[in-house]
Amino acid sequence: MFHLEPPFVIEAKNIWKKYRAKVSIFKSKSFFALVDVSLKLKKGEVIGILGESGCGKSTLGKVLLNLETPEKGKVYWFGKDVSTLSKKEYKKLRPKVQVVFQDPYNSLNPRYKVKDILLEPYLINVEKDKKRGLRRAEEILFKLGLEADVLEKYPFALSGGQRQRVALARALMSYPEVIILDEPTSALDMTVQAQILNLLKKLKEEMRLSYILISHSLPVVKFLADWIVVMYLGRIVEICKKEVFSEVLHHPYTEMLILSQPDPFSGKRIPEGIYGEPATPVLRPSGCEFHPRCEKKEKNCTLQNPPLFKINSNQWIACFKFLI
Ligand code: ADP
Ligand code: MG
Repeated sequence: MFHLEPPFVIEAKNIWKKYRAKVSIFKSKSFFALVDVSLKLKKGEVIGILGESGCGKSTLGKVLLNLETPEKGKVYWFGKDVSTLSKKEYKKLRPKVQVVFQDPYNSLNPRYKVKDILLEPYLINVEKDKKRGLRRAEEILFKLGLEADVLEKYPFALSGGQRQRVALARALMSYPEVIILDEPTSALDMTVQAQILNLLKKLKEEMRLSYILISHSLPVVKFLADWIVVMYLGRIVEICKKEVFSEVLHHPYTEMLILSQPDPFSGKRIPEGIYGEPATPVLRPSGCEFHPRCEKKEKNCTLQNPPLFKINSNQWIACFKFLI
């Protein structure tokens, strides 16, 4: 019997990413924004990456997109090591891995009409046929619930929700298989946010897409993801299948995130959820890096940093409480 690995569309293997940060006027210090991060995305699946600001979510997105090169570790697109792709292979695979950023105002060229914003990736990645490119643009806009007349508009003339739809349309022009969504709805108000999330769900089914969904919001991640990956200071501290997320015990940090989500009715955060100052990867605590904020810490936690323990095939947790 052959045990074939499932066809992963994107994979990160033991990624370490270093940056430099200024610590005073004269001094800078290098630090790891990502520490030994691994994940595998199967075709048609959604991995949600959850964690507070500064925990390395966008850095991971950029490494997966090959916009940043890790110090250690490998990224694979469709099973191929990105760092050793030939020019020809790279040109073929690059369009299949697309991105949509949080703020479409900054990511859409303000001097281009929507028509040109959408045509550009088509002409570069698909074929040099403007007429067919425009036809694809119209089809995609229709799918995304936009009228064809936006083609002649500039980004500033669009609403926030329309701009994010255009950013998504641009990503779809090159027939992608994977889209990295970096806080795709964080800049939008609640109703528009819900529309875009529903749209993302629909598109995923219709176009057989896979997503890496980066968000600091648990409800957003829960809505779309098949797997929830929780990051703290550049490390993965929990991986949990969404189906069982509400039924199982979690890493103390995940519990804190669950408790600190805003109440959907009043918008207020539940204060019990928040303990301690968010740490920074520039100054990593010793032992378990979450221990200074952890209400459940024990002696061992200040001495050693726990690896991810496999609880079962639905869940991995980096906490000594779960060491069996
Ligand atoms: P998140 O998206 O989770 O908010 P980021 O990935 O943007 O986090 O940042 C992770 C850490 O790396 C932060 O401490 C941030 O300040 C730092 N960082 C991100 N990009 C750079 C960069 N280009 N140069 C130096 N530090 C960076
Ligand atoms: Mg970010």
